[in-house]
Amino acid sequence: MSPRVFETRRARAFGDVPETQWNDWRWQLSHRLNTAEEIERIFPLTESERTALNASDLFRVDITPYFISLIRPDDPADPIRRQVIPTAAELVPFTAMMEDSLAEDRHSPVPGLVHRYPDRVLMLVTTQCASYCRYCTRSRIVGDASAQFSRAEFDAMFDYIERTPQIRDVLLSGGDPLTLAPGLLEELIARLRAIEHVEIIRIGSRVPVFLPMRVDDALCSMLARYHPLWLNIHVNHPNEITPELAAAADRLSRAGIPLGNQSVLLAGVNDCVHIQRRLVQDLLRIRVRPYYLYQCDLVEGAGHFRTPVAKGIEIIEGLRGHTSGFAVPQYVVDAPGGGGKIPLGPNYLLSMSDHRTALRNYEGYISVYEEPVDYTAHDPATCPDCCDKRTEAGQSGVSGLLEGEQLAIEPAGWEAIHARGGSKHRLNRDEEKWQPRGIGAEKSSAAGETPVHSVLRKKTSGKP
Ligand code: SF4
Repeated sequence: MSPRVFETRRARAFGDVPETQWNDWRWQLSHRLNTAEEIERIFPLTESERTALNASDLFRVDITPYFISLIRPDDPADPIRRQVIPTAAELVPFTAMMEDSLAEDRHSPVPGLVHRYPDRVLMLVTTQCASYCRYCTRSRIVGDASAQFSRAEFDAMFDYIERTPQIRDVLLSGGDPLTLAPGLLEELIARLRAIEHVEIIRIGSRVPVFLPMRVDDALCSMLARYHPLWLNIHVNHPNEITPELAAAADRLSRAGIPLGNQSVLLAGVNDCVHIQRRLVQDLLRIRVRPYYLYQCDLVEGAGHFRTPVAKGIEIIEGLRGHTSGFAVPQYVVDAPGGGGKIPLGPNYLLSMSDHRTALRNYEGYISVYEEPVDYTAHDPATCPDCCDKRTEAGQSGVSGLLEGEQLAIEPAGWEAIHARGGSKHRLNRDEEKWQPRGIGAEKSSAAGETPVHSVLRKKTSGKP
């Protein structure tokens, strides 16, 4: 089978627009469509779409002429149409919906800067996008020009990053950073690059998809001055992959910017193994690596886009092994309440004995991996990376348990519940009773003594 040919499309209503205007990103932005009347000049709306477009308090609508041209006019279920044209389903609440389901604002030490993970931050630099996705996680601020970040807020973000040396990675998002005025965008990136401990800068943008003409040579050469810089685009359906997007991705790649894709699993858009397989294969053809497939967040107005989590597992089952490993994104649920991204996937580990692991592959072939019985473990005491590891207090999690930092991670209030209102007495007074000999060795040895020594000292001194 020969590879699919990506198609250029232009809605009939824009047939007379000269090429120079069509390819001018400023023209595209100033001719975005946002009312029922404007959109009906392109294709007839359904009753549900008309109701939504005429509703008050609807999340902002704006669609570039380029992107609306990708919609097949006679198909109300078109996957691109569903992403940008609202329907009455947006007005229907659902029980789990929240204004800020990822608790981003709660994890912001200063407005617009989300510090959720140990070594990286998310910097919201604008509330504006080239077009607006109906399932947007940040619809609480995105689209609202009055919620834009001020100079003083940018200064506070930079100040926080400067005085927090554990931050080695800054992700610019919003809104869409590539909709910023070119001068302001460069100023923000240059200020980040001037901070010594910021090793990499990442940008999350849907501009290459909504407005590929914005990715011009001037933008690419500006970005190339600030390497190492990475960029993730956001494509949900193969119909979004056009010659224009392919050319934009090519310009970015030639500027040395590695490209990834983040897509959202959306009912009626891409909740199908076969669509997803075509999507990830087409992304690789334009040199974009599939990175994340997100479970749809619990965001107001997006209830009708949600799928069961099982659908995501089924999709990964249909990708892993069935196509290049490079094409398989990580399926994640961004934990409601701010728990961060949690990777999920099919289970390939069937069982284990003390030195054999039984595994199954994508075809159902089951085999056993025989493990070494004479494994000499890595020695942290002689490893420069172990001795020089960055430590982020309180966030080592299960990895910290495996490294022997502590014995357990307890839910808040666990100790008090299990004390049952009792008091300290002769059998529960000695805390060292529950300290395995070896756990916490690193900490104690800083004081010149391991827990084993301390237990031995205690026993020999006859202390209770
Ligand atoms: S491009 Fe991103 S930030 Fe903008 S509306 Fe879409 S999902 Fe939201």
